[in-house]
Amino acid sequence: MDEDGKVDDRRLGMDRPIARRDFLNGVAVTALGLAASSTADAAPQDGGGYYPPGLAGLRGSHPGSFEVAHSLRDGKFWESAPPPVPGEDLYDLVIVGGGISGLSAAHFYREHKPGARILILDNHDDFGGHAKRNEFVLGGRMELINGGTLEIDSPRPYSRVADGLIRSLGIDPPAFEEKYGKKEVYDKIGLGRGAFFDAQTFGADKLVSGIGAKPWREVLADAPLSARAKADIIRIEEADIDYLPGLNSAQKKDKLWRISFKDYLLKIVGADPGVIPFYQASTQDEWGVGIDALSALDVWGFGANRGFQGLKLEPGSAPHMGNTPSGYADGGSYTFHFPDGNATIARLLVRRLIPGVVPGKSAEDAVRAQVNYAHLDRPGQAVKIRLSSIVVGARNIGTPAASTGVEIAYSRFGELFRVRAEKCILAGWNMMIPYICPDLPKVQKDALHYLVKIPLVYTSVAVSNWRAFQKLGVQSIYSPGCYHSTTRLNPAVDIGGYTSVRSPDDPIILRMVRVPCTPGLDERTQHRLGHADILATSFETFERKIRDQLGRMLGPAGFDPAHDITGITVNRWPHGYAYEYNPLFDPQWPPGQAPHEIGRARHGRIAIANSDSGAQAYTDCAIDQAHRAVQELLTLT
Ligand SMILES: Cc1cc2nc3c(=O)[nH]c(=O)nc-3n(C[C@H](O)[C@H](O)[C@H](O)COP(=O)(O)OP(=O)(O)OC[C@H]3O[C@@H](n4cnc5c(N)ncnc54)[C@H](O)[C@@H]3O)c2cc1C
Repeated sequence: MDEDGKVDDRRLGMDRPIARRDFLNGVAVTALGLAASSTADAAPQDGGGYYPPGLAGLRGSHPGSFEVAHSLRDGKFWESAPPPVPGEDLYDLVIVGGGISGLSAAHFYREHKPGARILILDNHDDFGGHAKRNEFVLGGRMELINGGTLEIDSPRPYSRVADGLIRSLGIDPPAFEEKYGKKEVYDKIGLGRGAFFDAQTFGADKLVSGIGAKPWREVLADAPLSARAKADIIRIEEADIDYLPGLNSAQKKDKLWRISFKDYLLKIVGADPGVIPFYQASTQDEWGVGIDALSALDVWGFGANRGFQGLKLEPGSAPHMGNTPSGYADGGSYTFHFPDGNATIARLLVRRLIPGVVPGKSAEDAVRAQVNYAHLDRPGQAVKIRLSSIVVGARNIGTPAASTGVEIAYSRFGELFRVRAEKCILAGWNMMIPYICPDLPKVQKDALHYLVKIPLVYTSVAVSNWRAFQKLGVQSIYSPGCYHSTTRLNPAVDIGGYTSVRSPDDPIILRMVRVPCTPGLDERTQHRLGHADILATSFETFERKIRDQLGRMLGPAGFDPAHDITGITVNRWPHGYAYEYNPLFDPQWPPGQAPHEIGRARHGRIAIANSDSGAQAYTDCAIDQAHRAVQELLTLT
């Protein structure tokens, strides 16, 4: 592998010019001719040609977006902070965080106070938070993919508030799914699910196909697994065996929430340990941890066979299930996704908040719209979105109980600014709030610290064609031992004049997912380590891992990583999904006493939103929590 210097960089194409080195650090300042000015009224976003969705390289938590936060966390920021630049006018509301929650909060606030002057501050160079998009030009056409938040989809039906907001933006999820979503392009040409066994983990490189379509015996025929491991995977997936005889459904569920899925396989199903490397990463995309740190009941609740089919469990949620599996066990919400994921929702919210920024009239036409970033933050407009601005302090003026306003401090391009507002909503990552508001009660700070977000990486890889996928008969590949544990062809969605790729000869974007885990540790410790891993990894390492992995998985079908990879965007989310709690490691708190409930308490004129404050990593939660935070502030005079 690469760390040992055993791969040939030239063979992999590490010397090839692709769409990433011009923007190596996610900063396009030179290429776009933009000077990184220090003043709030002449920043890069105010210049022509500023268009972050088109940037490649390290995106998501891009360089420049988080260093100040880490120095604040480490207690160093104020030691060397510059004197503040004189403040601006008073705002009615300052919102920290321009993700879906922050943008929704601005919308709800203006519903009640239409003339309100609102400033939204976000540390990234683009708005949308996790709901961002990657935009490529491939073969002369626009190809879109989500950089983070993908689907309008949740474990439970959208609330009246969240559903009402997205419908008011012109999105009708069931109708859109019917009209634009059902493009089973890859199914129609017979592409299914595959798995890649890598030599380092399994002894030999081998890709198998037909998962879900062929009997497991056929799928695994040439897999580099022992005969016992193969037989046990076939048994786990296909046999109708009751491994907990003598117990009723409720008793079985009560047993299953107490053990990890790994222990279920080893100790109750009696599987050979050789099956574990195959299943280990199968839960990472959804939960951010492997099967060592997830209860067997949660895996069952998410709808997998995997040794549960013979238990004859009654459908539906049960006590001690996690939020996501319990919701999906009861049915889930409607489902639809735009070609750029929920970035279109963020665009539609911005269109509503600041006329003229996102041209067009319908939800459909927002997909192809070229956002005019220079209009996000102009003097005199009611709502302003100021990017590259990280908030380092928010304090009530006076005591919280008798607060007369809020003073907010933010850092932008090395300078410190102060701004005053009647009220403030912190819609950013909740675990940063104790550093922004050091005068919060200790119990609230401890609660906020508890919420360790889930780290993950969504890597977008542009390739010149997908003939190898067609030849291998796969549209997605699970690769449990590899750096990225899944790879899939960009799902097809045609909407608003945007059309997805149809021919395997055409260029396309691949979505690869990496979740850095440390099996054997509790979930939150794994997330902390994963967070550090993501930020410590250079683009060069990501690139080499991607080229090596794609070459080994697809090379036998003619894929040449040196020639066929044309662009790479690594969307790093060290602070990704909101923490939803884990029945294996977290206590069951009494109602109102869970960390996110204690943590989100209003502090004087400062209210707290973000999906973290609902402990659910979903867009409807981000919207619902924005609504709650706004309602809390509206009760104040
Ligand atoms: C890779 C990925 C995939 C996902 N897929 C889905 C999906 O398919 N469906 C779904 O419903 N949900 C998904 N989610 C969950 C997603 O988090 C939510 O749906 C939603 O986008 C969260 O919105 P938010 O506004 O609460 O938080 P965020 O999107 O995180 O926005 C908060 C913003 O505040 C900023 N901020 C934080 N602190 C500060 C500060 N001090 N100063 C200034 N700005 C600050 C952050 O940088 C960020 O830009 C996904 C998340 C990730 C990471």
